[in-house]
Parts: sequence; structure tokens; C-alpha cells
Amino acid sequence: MRGALGGPRVLLRRLREVMAEPVSAQDRLDKIVVLIAANMVAEVCSVYVLRMDGTLELYATEGLNREAVHQTVMRIDEGLVGLVASQANPINLSDAQSHPAFAYRPETGEEIYHSFLGVPILRAGNTLGVLVVQNRAHRNYSEEEEEALQTTAMVLAEMIASGELSALAKPGAEPAVHPRRHLKGTVLSEGIALGHAVLHEPRVAIKNFVADDIPGELKRLDDAIAAMRSDVDIMLDRGEIADGGEHREILETYRMFAHDRGWMQRMREAIRTGLTAEAGVERVQSDTRARMLRATDPYLRERLHDLDDLANRLMRQLMGVDHAPRDQLPDNAILIARMMGPAALLDYDRKKLRGLVLEEGGATSHVAIVARALGIPAVGEVENIAGLVDSGDPIIVDGVSGEVYLRPPPDIESAYIERVRLRARRQAQFQELRDKPCVTRDGHEIQLHINAGLLVDLPHIEETGAAGIGLFRTELQFMVATSFPRIGEQLALYRSVLETAGPKPVTFRTLDIGGDKVLPYMSAFEEENPALGWRAIRLGLDRPGLMRSQIRALLRAASGRSLRIMFPMVAVVEEFDQAKLMVEHELTYLRRHGHTLPERVEVGVMVEVPSLLFQLDDLLPRVDFLSVGSNDLCQFLFAADRGNTRVAERFDPISAPVVRALRLIARKGREHRKQVTLCGELASKPIGALALVAIGYRSLSLTPSAVGPVKSMLLDLDAEKALAAIGPLLDHSETGMTLRQRIEAFAASENLQL
Ligand code: PEP
Ligand code: MG
Repeated sequence: MRGALGGPRVLLRRLREVMAEPVSAQDRLDKIVVLIAANMVAEVCSVYVLRMDGTLELYATEGLNREAVHQTVMRIDEGLVGLVASQANPINLSDAQSHPAFAYRPETGEEIYHSFLGVPILRAGNTLGVLVVQNRAHRNYSEEEEEALQTTAMVLAEMIASGELSALAKPGAEPAVHPRRHLKGTVLSEGIALGHAVLHEPRVAIKNFVADDIPGELKRLDDAIAAMRSDVDIMLDRGEIADGGEHREILETYRMFAHDRGWMQRMREAIRTGLTAEAGVERVQSDTRARMLRATDPYLRERLHDLDDLANRLMRQLMGVDHAPRDQLPDNAILIARMMGPAALLDYDRKKLRGLVLEEGGATSHVAIVARALGIPAVGEVENIAGLVDSGDPIIVDGVSGEVYLRPPPDIESAYIERVRLRARRQAQFQELRDKPCVTRDGHEIQLHINAGLLVDLPHIEETGAAGIGLFRTELQFMVATSFPRIGEQLALYRSVLETAGPKPVTFRTLDIGGDKVLPYMSAFEEENPALGWRAIRLGLDRPGLMRSQIRALLRAASGRSLRIMFPMVAVVEEFDQAKLMVEHELTYLRRHGHTLPERVEVGVMVEVPSLLFQLDDLLPRVDFLSVGSNDLCQFLFAADRGNTRVAERFDPISAPVVRALRLIARKGREHRKQVTLCGELASKPIGALALVAIGYRSLSLTPSAVGPVKSMLLDLDAEKALAAIGPLLDHSETGMTLRQRIEAFAASENLQL
């Protein structure tokens, strides 16, 4: 390196000595800047630290006016130092003053320095400060010098992260190592949780940054890379994902990255500047993460994610550590991960797990489904959460608003403690209603069932006192598995469900896959409009093997007792006829093979496609029951994708067009003396349940946590009065008030809790 005294390795060793000296934090920083300046033959070396309030404070300098230390404070959008911090990227200029962002502070006396090299002080991709060297002459700092300064910045990052500098800070202007954060994401699973962060993939704490034996460290890196590559190969060649499709392509890219020359090169260079292998991996990973946080191109972001993942694997290889022990969670654990598979979540101790926060994961992700089934509040799409938290940090997950408070201030914390207490009190009140029959004030009995789909849902039948399971989503077992569940596994699940339910009825819905419900191990097929595509019963009828084996498993599981099967997404009555025929064939097959048959088999249809509204008189005589899937029915009535946040909430399901359609179905059901249940989300909201009971629904199937609030409202409801209040709005358009407003006004006048 040009002009450097002893090169970066000597500097790192000297820094290690200074780090171990029993001196004050300010003395240590002062010694560090002197060392760096001397080593790099720079006239100036300064350390700026990012503060909680988002500004940068000069903490130490060699070369600039010493009086400016702790006095000079800059905004992050100010000057070259601000630019280095905000972009998390080095800036290397031989003529700094001609740069448009150049700004100088007279108290520092820096106007005489022309060349400028500034690097971010990064930890896990987060900027903690800026390290700068300057020279009077128009000097070109070489790439090696830039690299060496970045390596040095790592040592400073550890020093800042250790909290040592906090003693030097004015109150409220502490270094932004553990800043309070108020983050926003999307709700994956409802509820509120307070607890302490546990990282699903804990960051490995590096103890030794400075290499004593560089060739030895390079060899350690090579061995770790070889081990990581073979891990990736094993993962890729594992039978269940070797069948082609989009999933495989993603993994192939991953393999390609595991062999990425540029990445290997950058890690080797970092080690050559004097770092241990693990510190070299972290140096490069920190840069990658910083770029990832700023990348807007989704493809690039995804690739940077891959690199970040691989670096984690490498780090675990080098440090010989594996995942956190799933069975040793602390109490009140809030799990933090970039992304997580559903099976991984199920591995944790449910009793200690209070909440979940993910960087990725939409409401339809499989892990979200499991979180809901477990009743764990969860928030997804929280940017960089895994990079921001440290294990043990206090954290609040608000699974109602989608907010996350990291290291919350005391007033927010006490407000949330109060909310949790209130919710618990309400929960206790609902619990008292558990065994009370659900009869409205004017004497209408309403059956309240629950929606379920996994084994972990089953305790909810007992807890809620529900009349049965009104919708068992059989696809969930398929969605959380890593390969197609065999017929034996399906049979075992259905048996457990029926055993747990005892005499209470269970309505099994046949596989509702396709659309947004994708199976990772099933080859993907491109569809322009997946929600309108090859899904649910359409797929089941075209690939009868799958549906037949599921029906067989259901019939066998229910031997000697009654069974209810329903078919999703039926659009024309003929589809139901074909599906029913399949059930009959399977019954014949089982009879012939000497199996005990169910005592009774009822078959029904989910009303989710609007075309069925005009076939009810044909359909009803053929079925034993109907169940309205209001989620899909609304999606198709309004032509608004239920999973697309831009349009999902644009149209109100509690409005005249929907409620008229629902009333028609209830009327037709009564006319044909067939049971009609409603199992979409609409029934899980007290306001929706009010409207439904008013227009004649007597059977609802709800999310388990909704049973208490809905039942409590129904016990106080006069259904006839409710109909009188809203009927006119359904029969003829009245202006001035929407249906929702009318119901809300009615509920207020009747003192009903919506
Ligand atoms: C519905 O569409 O309303 C329904 C209950 O089914 P799912 O939400 O599983 O599509
Ligand atoms: Mg549906």
C-alpha cells in the first residue's frame, strides 16, 4: 500500500493492543485515530458516531481542531460524511471540495484538506458511524487503502456496539447502537404480545477479529466454503425438491451463488488485510446487507438475500454453531426471523412463544397460517428486523395494527401492558359464556362452529365450546408439509380430528389448492389469473387420483360414524355431480374390500363462485348442505383480488350487494330445507354476524378467537329487530346511509358490542 507504515495487518494488531488497554473510552478512541492516521500517512483521521437522534457527532480526531470533538454535529443529509452514512458506501475523492455534497464546518478547520476517504462503520448492515481520513494534497487513495480502512472500521463497530462510548454521550444523544424503533409491517396473526427477542438464526458473536496466521485463516475459509457447498448440494439433491419447477430454479441460483467467484474473492481480500476468517465473512456480509437494505430492484434484493443466507451458513461452519436450541426458549419469547418455514415454527416450545416478527411473509404465507393456528400474534414484512434486534431486546408485537416496537419507551410499554390486561379480562368474560347455549334474545338458536385445518387447531373445539368444526381446510396439512402427505398421513390426521371432535360434527373440505395456495413441492404452472385458474375442485376433477385418495382417507377415517364432505369453488352443478359420483365410487370400493363404512355421509358445496347464485334451485335438491365462502364470494362479486392490498379493502362486504346475495342463499336454503352455514371471515366479525343472523343465517363457522366476541354480541341481539332495521335498505335503495352505517347505528341503540 502506498505510503502506509507497516500495512493494514500491523495496524490491526496495534488496534487489538489498544482495545485491550485499561484506558478510558475517549483515550482509546484518541489513540485509535492517531494510529490510523500514522499507518495510512494521513494528516487527518476522524470518527463520527451516529446518534439516536439520527445525527452524526464527531467523537475523535487527529488533525482537525480538537475543540470540535463532541461539538460538531451534522445531519445525515449533510456533507460527504452524511453521504457515506446514508448510503452505507465508501466515498473516495482526490478533490473533495469539488463534490456537490461537500460542506465544511469552520470549527473543524478542514477547509485545507483536499483528498477525502470516508467509509461507513457497519454492523449487520446497519450504519453506526463514519470513519474518515483526509490529506492536504490531491491524493488518490488506492483500493487497498479503502479496503484496509473498511477493515479498521469493523473494529470501531465492535467498540461502538459494546456500549463503551455511551458514557461519552450527552443524554438523548447516545450512539444509535440500540435505538428505539417503531416499525410497521402487515398483520399475519392477530393478537398482542410483549416479550424479549429470540433470533431464529442467531448472529454469531465474533470474539477474535485479528488474524495471527493469514494463510491459516484462508485455509479455514476454504474448508468452510467446501463444507457449505456440499450442504447446499445435499439440500438440492434431496428427493422431495428434485422434481423441477420454479422452486428448483430458485435453489439452483442459490447453488450458483455458493460458487460465486467475486464473493469468494472479496472475503479472501478481507482476510488478507489481517482479519480472521469469520471476521472476513462478516465484513463482506455487512456490506451485502447494507446494499440489500437499499436495493429497490426486487430481483437484486432476492439475490442479496441469497448471499446473506449463504454467509450465515459459512459463519456457522466457521464458528461450529448450529441453530438456537428450539426447546430452550426463554419465557415470553418473541421469535425474529427473516423468513421461516411452517415446520420450523412448530418446532418451538409453544408455551414460551409469545409472538413472531418476520422480514418477509405475507398473510397467506404458510408460516402465517401456522401462527394463526397456534394463536401467536405475528407481524410480517418488517424491514430489516433480523438485522436490528439483538437477542434479549424488549419488543412489542401489535398483531392488530401491524406495528412492532423494538426497545419500546416506558409509556408505550405501559400502554400495551394495559391493553393486554384488558384483552385478558375480556377473554375471561368470554370464557364464562363457553357453556351457555347461543340463543338470541328473541329465541333464535345459532350454531357457532370453528374453522380449523391443523392438529394444533383441535384444542380450540374444547376451549371455545363450539358446536363443531364448520370448515376443516384439508389443504393446510399439504401446505405445511415438505412433500405430498401420503394417504396414511391424511388418514391419521382425519382420525385425530374426528376423535377429538367426538360427537360434534366436522365438515371436511376437499383440497382447495391452486390460486394463492401453492404447494412448494408441486410443479408450478404459470397462470395469468391464478385466482380464476386451475384450482380447487377444477384441479381435483382433472387429476382424480389426488381427490380420490383424499376421499378414501376421509371415508376410512369416519368408519362407523357420520362424515360431512364439501367441495370448494364449484361453479356449475355438474361439477358437484361428478364429485359426488367419486364419493359413491369410493364407498363401493371400500365396501367391496371389507371396510366398515361411515354410518352416514353428507355431501355439500361451498358457495364461492357467483354463478351458483343462479343455480340454487338446481343445486339445492342435490346437496345435503351448503356453506358460503364469503371470502371468495366477495372477491368474485367485486372482481377484487382478496390478497392484493391495493384493492382488497376497497369494497365493503357489509354492503347491500353482498348482503342481498347472502340473503338469497339463506332464503333458498330454507325453501329447500337444507342447512346453510357461512364460513368466511365475515362471520368472524360481530358486525358481520349481526347482519347474517338478521337475514336468516342460523349456522356460522368462525376463526376460534372470534367465538367469544360474536357469541357475546348474539346473546344480546334481537334478530327480528335487526332485520326490521336493515331490511328496508336491502329491499329498496335508500339514500343517506350505507348498510354498515345503519347496522352500526342499530348496534349502538341496542348497546351491542361490535
Ligand atoms: C372462503 O372463501 O370464504 C373460505 C372460507 O375459504 P378460503 O378462505 O379457505 O378460501
Ligand atoms: Mg375460499
